[in-house]
Amino acid sequence: GCDCQRFLRNNWLLLSTVCAVVLGIGVGVLVREYGKLSNLDKFYFAFPGEVLMRMLKLIILPLIVSSMITGVAALDSSVSGKIGLRAVVYYFCTTVIAVILGIVLVVTIKPGVSQKVDEIDRTGSTPEVTTVDAMLDLIRNMFPENLVQACFQQYKTKREEVKLTNELEKNSTAVTEEPVTIVMTTEALENKTKEYKIVGMYSDGINVLGLIVFCLVFGIVIGKMGEKGQVLVDFFNALNDATMKIVQIIMWYMPLGILFLIAGKIIEVEDWEIFRKLGLYMATVLSGLAIHSVVVLPLIYLITVRKNPFRFAIGMAQALLTALMVSSSSATLPVTFRCAEEKNHVDKRITRFVLPVGATINMDGTALYEAVAAVFIAQLNDLDLDVGKIITISVTATAASIGAAGVPQAGLVTMVVVLSAVGLPAEDVTLIIAVDWLLDRFRTMINVLGDAFGAGIVEKLSKRELEQMDVSSEVNIVNPF
Ligand code: ASP
Repeated sequence: GCDCQRFLRNNWLLLSTVCAVVLGIGVGVLVREYGKLSNLDKFYFAFPGEVLMRMLKLIILPLIVSSMITGVAALDSSVSGKIGLRAVVYYFCTTVIAVILGIVLVVTIKPGVSQKVDEIDRTGSTPEVTTVDAMLDLIRNMFPENLVQACFQQYKTKREEVKLTNELEKNSTAVTEEPVTIVMTTEALENKTKEYKIVGMYSDGINVLGLIVFCLVFGIVIGKMGEKGQVLVDFFNALNDATMKIVQIIMWYMPLGILFLIAGKIIEVEDWEIFRKLGLYMATVLSGLAIHSVVVLPLIYLITVRKNPFRFAIGMAQALLTALMVSSSSATLPVTFRCAEEKNHVDKRITRFVLPVGATINMDGTALYEAVAAVFIAQLNDLDLDVGKIITISVTATAASIGAAGVPQAGLVTMVVVLSAVGLPAEDVTLIIAVDWLLDRFRTMINVLGDAFGAGIVEKLSKRELEQMDVSSEVNIVNPF
């Protein structure tokens, strides 16, 4: 009847995405069994998925810039300061809880104790990176020396990537003397034969952190300029509306893209055997993520907001599913925005400001994963973990999750820092590479959920300031839909 129609109309996108996932898995399994595709065929097959990824990545830049600037400019600087502080406190507390949860689980379950390192094949070798390197790099990223360069999407196909690394090798002395050169990628980690010196962590995408810092300052400044700044505020508001309209268009393509994305991945995976060998480790990570998302975060939401956390989470379903499919918080950001604003009705003044920051620095799933993985590798190496080492792992895992960019498998790259901090061989990160793509999807989902709950919680805590602003000035945030 009528109810059913309304339900369909409101949720068609979610429903078709769910169908796409199921269909994609089915198609993937079938083609894998009977398709006999060559490597090149597989590449072509995954193409519609690649296009979706490109569209989502494409929209990140205008989305982050316009939402951050207008978000901050719409608030008094005292208010934005308070909101920012609340968000940071939330990010920090939930990340630390995630790390502790991960450590408790991995120390109890002991997935690495019965196994020995040589039972699992290593897939490559990597060099040392110190904690200091990583910290400096995080700060470096916050202050890009060139704003245009910070917007660069250094998207490389695999073949180009090989060429790139070869070139780096040739010029290796020149490269290592350059403090901001970016050398390590997930592909480089997987590469068996080459060695790299890490002088900067590399995420193949925009320097989101750098842009956020700049937009934050820029937004505050133009917000304070009054009449003179208004033209810029209007400009970025219009840009934001236009961007959200484009997001809406991308959403139409989403189910098709997702179908091929998941099917292409299923066809591509070579070694399923490794999943059995690393089963207990994966179970540890996944149960940690499950507890964090079903118990910890909902409890915090319930206590602070006093509303049904699961209804809120269901409102985010489209974003969570997208995160699971694309394994990138940044690429999911447009969908996170839509769900938070349209379905959960979080105030736009909060989401515009809090969601981009969250997608970049708040990664509960990644933090939990880094802690579990580090302890797992320590167990494989028979390393005794005293309290000092556990604390070191906790601190570096937190930092590594903040430093990881919101792109696929970034957490694996920053993992090296955690390992080196406790004196574990950094190349042991290669032990877990084979299953990382799968865990990455789930931890990204939890990262996105954490950001969303954060927006809801910060909104609730900032209710009074927001209401005061409503009466004192007519805040003009236009609904683009
Ligand atoms: N892929 C994750 C994200 O985008 C980061 C990670 O590798 O843990 O949130």
